[in-house]
Amino acid sequence: MKKKIALITGITGQDGAYLANLLLNNNYKIFGAYRRSSSLNLWRLEELGILDSIELVSFELLEKSNIERVIKLINPDEIYNLAAQSYVGTSFENPIYTTQANALGALRILESIRMINKNIKFYQASSSEMFGEGIPQKLNEKSMFHPRSAYAVSKVFGHQITINYREAYGIFACSGILFNHESPLRGTEFVTRKITSTLAEIQAGRKKTLELGDYYAKRDWGYAVDFVEGIWRMMQNDKPKDYVLATGEAHSVKEFATIAARTMGFDLIWKGKKTNEYAIDKNTKKVLIKKNSKFYRPSDVSFLRGDAKEAKKDLGWKPKVKFKELVKIMVESDKKKSLKGKILQ
Ligand code: NDP
Ligand code: GDP
Repeated sequence: MKKKIALITGITGQDGAYLANLLLNNNYKIFGAYRRSSSLNLWRLEELGILDSIELVSFELLEKSNIERVIKLINPDEIYNLAAQSYVGTSFENPIYTTQANALGALRILESIRMINKNIKFYQASSSEMFGEGIPQKLNEKSMFHPRSAYAVSKVFGHQITINYREAYGIFACSGILFNHESPLRGTEFVTRKITSTLAEIQAGRKKTLELGDYYAKRDWGYAVDFVEGIWRMMQNDKPKDYVLATGEAHSVKEFATIAARTMGFDLIWKGKKTNEYAIDKNTKKVLIKKNSKFYRPSDVSFLRGDAKEAKKDLGWKPKVKFKELVKIMVESDKKKSLKGKILQ
């Protein structure tokens, strides 16, 4: 049987690496789209041992001519658009770039598909950040959007334009509204991996404290390996449709940090008032975790929890790894990495 060809944008990121691994196991030929820089960031593909199985192509979300050339050259069966300026914090510093990359980047790819070959299937990486603030119920595909950052606004555009190209031109275009998903391959600027990597560095004696922003923000954190399986299933669906992927549980940053510190072997005691809480290591009496207002955002999302019933019903998808196991996987990986040398943060 002819191998399916997939183009994965954002191949150097967390999801790009895990999705490539999954597709290779399903006998795909993979083209991995990376953006050219002075030092290429291939550590995730190396860590999974799949770098040699992927054909890398230079790709830039901001450059329509480049996108067209890549699509014409490869003529893929499926395009997974995972590339993005993916960090909410940076989108407050670089809102225009974030919009160019995330919103117009998705449109540039869709427009290229429309011009070159409308049979190419398209996946857009939408985000639970689109829902924004203040909804205690579990969020699903029908919930309202109230984006709270330029990142979230840019993702709403990417989401809506994907639906529009499906409706207007009959393209198999779908979006996954994914709640936060983490792993040992998560970037260290995101709070989960920041916690596990910094605690590992503290244990190795190379750092003193872990400084965080809002301890009480809650997220529905799942395991990235489970989530890329859901992405792939959406693209094998009978018809293009958008789905929420989530675990259905919400936990706070403080809970994540507490379990991570204990799993790392620290005996943690929380002290102080809610506005100025800190944690000390019972054995050394040193401050291990403290607040730093620098990590607060001008507008944040305090609570997110998703409902993936529809994905379970139609795609047979459900997450396997639960919260505590996820923390353990990440702590153990960073513990091992820190024994080999400094974890780059
Ligand atoms: P990462 O930050 O790990 O990866 C982002 C990728 O996009 C990197 O490969 C990066 O390349 C690439 N990229 C950034 N800017 C450009 C550009 N201008 N042109 C081409 N490539 C670019 O993100 P994840 O793997 O975690 O997430 C994948 C997608 O899913 C993203 O779109 C993200 O916004 C979305 N998402 C993620 C969630 C999560 O919890 N992980 C939740 C919901 C949505 P480089 O290595 O050069 O920086
Ligand atoms: P996000 O959901 O995509 O923004 O993922 P993050 O991992 O960056 O942030 C999750 C939540 O943790 C947000 O509400 C942040 O404000 C909160 N948070 C608290 N302290 C920190 C911190 O030090 N770094 C980051 N990245 N987030 C923090």
